[in-house]
Formats: sequence, structure tokens, C-alpha cells
Amino acid sequence: VSKPLTGRVAVVTGASSGLGEATAGHLADLGAKVAVLARRADRLDDLVARIAKNGGTALALPADVTDAAAVQAAADRVAAEFGGADLLFNNAGVMLPSPVEERRTDQWDRQIDLNIKGLMNAIAAFTPQLVASAAERGVADLINTSSIGARNIFPTFAVYAGTKAYVTHLSTHLRVELGPKNVRVSALEPGIVGTELQDHVTDEGALAWLDGARQSMEFLTPQDIARSVGFIATLPPRVNVQLLTVMPTLQA
Ligand code: NDP
Repeated sequence: VSKPLTGRVAVVTGASSGLGEATAGHLADLGAKVAVLARRADRLDDLVARIAKNGGTALALPADVTDAAAVQAAADRVAAEFGGADLLFNNAGVMLPSPVEERRTDQWDRQIDLNIKGLMNAIAAFTPQLVASAAERGVADLINTSSIGARNIFPTFAVYAGTKAYVTHLSTHLRVELGPKNVRVSALEPGIVGTELQDHVTDEGALAWLDGARQSMEFLTPQDIARSVGFIATLPPRVNVQLLTVMPTLQA
């Protein structure tokens, strides 16, 4: 098996399930050392053990990305143990659709705090490592998980979609800022992937819509997204995938 990411160090946020978990495993299979960050430490320990069993190297970083100091402490551990990250898959997120008139400001806050502020905490903590690695080795990657919600219209998903439009737009700006330092910036916009994301939804209307979607199409799998991240990271340093939209074939 070829290991094109040998010598590279990846950090994956939201690595305890779904896209992050699958991507951490795939990047390790491609040869990267992988630091996995999320709140559920038991899940991270299982993942680290699985990666080690497959011959890879991984480090568990139990932390809440909405806590800036905790994310900085995690970054310091990556520097100490792996010599700094050259790939950040900035992926932790939550989706809580509801009609705006219900004024679920608690759910609005959770999405904004995690999908925007948590994402920014990781960018703040790891950008110095990405820039330093790129200066040394000629390439680093910042891959932010956005969503097709940044682009298409889904009633009751306005706040979630707004956070993801932020992620896509931020990424295109950061690409121009960091590209001259050989840090490639990508926004990844998946359509529906079967993960725990849907389990947090409480709104009846959104749940009915998701059920209908599940019956009418085969969702993407986390592995499909892991391969997409692997594709972005293994391209030659001159190639920066600015935006990658990955949809289930049957999703409109
Ligand atoms: P999951 O719910 O399976 O994964 C979310 C991950 O984020 C978990 O590992 C969770 O771990 C972690 N997380 C949640 N809150 C925090 C926190 N405060 N600090 C650190 N980690 C946290 O969902 P997905 O894998 O589907 O979602 C991953 C990303 O993909 C999200 O940004 C989502 O918006 C996006 N996305 C998903 C799509 C889908 O259809 N599934 C489609 C488009 C985009 P823990 O609870 O242990 O902290």
C-alpha cells in the first residue's frame, strides 16, 4: 500500500464520530500521524487503538473546541509530541434546524458557538503550526468542513446554513491570505452523510424531512468524505482544491 502522507502530521477535530472519525483513520492509512480531538475521550481512545492496530500513529486530544484555552493546550501537545501539525481537518460541528419563529436561541447559540467560534479557535491554535510546517516542507493544508447548506436552500436550516456559508466564505478569503505561505485552504461541502449529526435534531418537521430523504436516496458514508479529504491532501503542492462539493448522487 502506498503511503503518500508519510511524514505529515494531521489534526482532526470532531474525530469521535462520523466524518472526523473516518477521516482520521484514512489519513493514518495514508501514512500521516494523526491527532484526534473531540470531547468523548473513550471514543478517541478506541480510535487511537484501532489506528495503532493498523500500523499507524495517533494521539488522543480530549477537548471542547469552544474552549479556546483547551484547544491551545491541545495544539501545544501536538507540537511537543509530533513536532507540529501540517494538516488541520477543521470539522467539529452540530446541526439543529428549527423554524425561526420558535426562537430556539439556545440551539442558535450552540451552532454559532461550535460551527463558527469553535472552528475559529482551532484556526487560531493551529495556524502557526501550519505556516511553520509549510515554510519547512513546502506544503500544509487547512480543510474546513462546510456543507451543501452553505449553497442550497433548506427551510428551517437557516442558522445552520448561515454558519456553513461563513465557513465557505472564510475559507476562500484565508486561501488567498495563506496561499503565499504554501498553506492550501479548502472548504469541503458535503451533501447528506449518514452520521450522528441527524441524531441531535429535535424539530419534528426537520426529522420528517430527514426521514423522507433517507427513504428516497442512499446517503453518503463517512468513508466517502474521508476519501475526499485524502484526495485534497495528496495532490501536488501546487494544487489547491478551493471548494469541493460532494453530494449523494440522488440528492437534488
Ligand atoms: P457527528 O455528530 O457524527 O460528529 C460531530 C463531531 O463533532 C463529533 O466527533 C463530536 O464529538 C464533535 N463535537 C461536537 N461538539 C464538540 C465540541 N464542543 N468540541 C469538540 N468536538 C465536538 O456529525 P458529522 O460527522 O456528520 O459532522 C461533522 C461535520 O460535517 C460537521 O461540521 C457537520 O456540520 C458537517 N456536515 C455533515 C453532514 C452530514 O450530513 N452528516 C453534511 C454536511 C456537513 P464529541 O461529541 O465527542 O465532542
